[in-house]
Amino acid sequence: MKVNCGALRLADAGSHVELNGWMNRRRDHGGLIFVDVRDRDGVTQIVFDPKHPSFALAETLRHEDVLRVRGAVRRRPAGTENAKIETGEVEVAADELEVLSRSLVPPFQVNLDEDVDENLRMQYRYLDLRRPRMQRNLTIRHKIVKAIRDFFDSRNFLEIETPLLVKSTPEGAREYLVPSRIHPGSFYALPQSPQILKQILMIAGFGRYMQIARCMRDEDLRADRQPEFTQLDVEMSFVSQDDVLEIMESAMIFVWQQALGIPAPGPFPRYRHEEVLARYGTDKPDLRFGLELVDVKETFRATEFKVFRDQAESRGGAVIAVRYPGGATLSRRDFDGLTELAKQLGAKGLVWIALASDGVKSPVSKFLSDADVAAVAGALAAQTGDALLLFADERARALDVSGRMRNEIGSRCNLRDPGRFAFAWVTDFPLFEVDPDTGKPAPAHHPFTAPNDDQWELLESDPLAMRAQHYDLVLNGFELGSGSIRIHKPDFQRKIFAMLGMSDEEIEERFGFFIRALDYGAPPHGGMALGIDRIAMLAAGEENLREVIAFPKTQVARDLMMDAPTPVPERLLRDLSLKSTAPPPKD
Ligand code: ASP
Repeated sequence: MKVNCGALRLADAGSHVELNGWMNRRRDHGGLIFVDVRDRDGVTQIVFDPKHPSFALAETLRHEDVLRVRGAVRRRPAGTENAKIETGEVEVAADELEVLSRSLVPPFQVNLDEDVDENLRMQYRYLDLRRPRMQRNLTIRHKIVKAIRDFFDSRNFLEIETPLLVKSTPEGAREYLVPSRIHPGSFYALPQSPQILKQILMIAGFGRYMQIARCMRDEDLRADRQPEFTQLDVEMSFVSQDDVLEIMESAMIFVWQQALGIPAPGPFPRYRHEEVLARYGTDKPDLRFGLELVDVKETFRATEFKVFRDQAESRGGAVIAVRYPGGATLSRRDFDGLTELAKQLGAKGLVWIALASDGVKSPVSKFLSDADVAAVAGALAAQTGDALLLFADERARALDVSGRMRNEIGSRCNLRDPGRFAFAWVTDFPLFEVDPDTGKPAPAHHPFTAPNDDQWELLESDPLAMRAQHYDLVLNGFELGSGSIRIHKPDFQRKIFAMLGMSDEEIEERFGFFIRALDYGAPPHGGMALGIDRIAMLAAGEENLREVIAFPKTQVARDLMMDAPTPVPERLLRDLSLKSTAPPPKD
């Protein structure tokens, strides 16, 4: 009987089995050889007896050799059981051993989850993936994706594939381009998301679409980005924002139950964009802890402390306060360090007030009345022993810095429970935000997002005041994804493109096919996309997307195992009517 390496239990004692797997560990003692054989399923202990013909071969086994063993399952002698593994009560007495492949000495230990140089892991990814952590992570990922498919199937969604070779219609990020050989000088783009195609599927009458979709964005990489990633992509017809939120929330609750076996974390709280910024200084708050921010500028309208009074008197100014639990015991040097950090985060400075048991301490205490301190402490529900950190600045910046400082305090005070999953919705985003490069309004989500129904008249007069039917799902301080109710009237879609500075010709050239589709009876529709990599990362308790992607790219978008990207021979470029202007690669 062929069995997996994690399968055998006491009840199997007496049966004769075959195991196939990798040599995980070998111990020679007491004249016997013990070999742990490993596969995805687990580890089983094999015992070789010196009297047996395969003993000599067993002596030659090295880490990561591939074996086939046959033998009888038996109870381990009393006192030698291993409670840490599921097969720990039994062992297999070998009577046949075959070495199916030999392995070179691996560059790192595969049988332990110890820290290994990141580049080495990527270069020998096949060995890295054999390690318990990666086997566990990719299993969790599989379960998540399966639960997603099961859920959407049960709600009458169809999974429909959209192409990878599409028209270049940048959605914000830079696109990957693919030169066409048969249309010299023309290019396909790889999709940043199936956005337009899923909307067209609604026009095509499919009503409820989902896809586990690969997306590509040629961005400068950050710790939590990969150039290609996987989204749960969803679109629905004849729905309101609440309908989309209900489906996505139920999906996440189902996934958590199915894939992690964790009680449902819902219902998810909902925050308006403005509110979430005011309370947490970010639109992706980590809600596993409190420490809400408070604008205390009203307290300082008449203060002698000019830094605060200036902000209190200015319309756009703010004095944002955040509590540091137990912070009164920090030393002056600690506070100097925090001030330095605040400056790196973009603050002009930081005012701290320590509510020490022997009195209030602060570098600006001579300007602060007892009533001022009591008012701020009261607003933050602070107690003796806490410190108060205050940031005076233009409101958006003060909130941003305080939000980051809140996260920092969360880390320093260990306020994040790793077993908790704090989901939240953020709604009512602005339709446009000012693009820092051009100074002009740009879509906060994408140009297909509908504003609130009553706001079209603001499009010319005050576009930045328009609110959108755009929502984000947030988990533990990460944005899992965004979605919106879409514009389904062709005239309105044209108006938005025009407002973004596109000429009629440009609209026709880039989006003509889409507007034409809208012209033929488009149902009202909306949807969302969630990052599967991020969901898997958070569900697996990992801190980097690379830990839940089988073959990820490095920070600089390289695949170290395949060694990609690489230059290609001139001949291939000629076929594509391309000529490289890059300097020849250095060897
Ligand atoms: N296409 C959007 C994105 O990839 C999601 C959506 O609006 O459905 O972010």
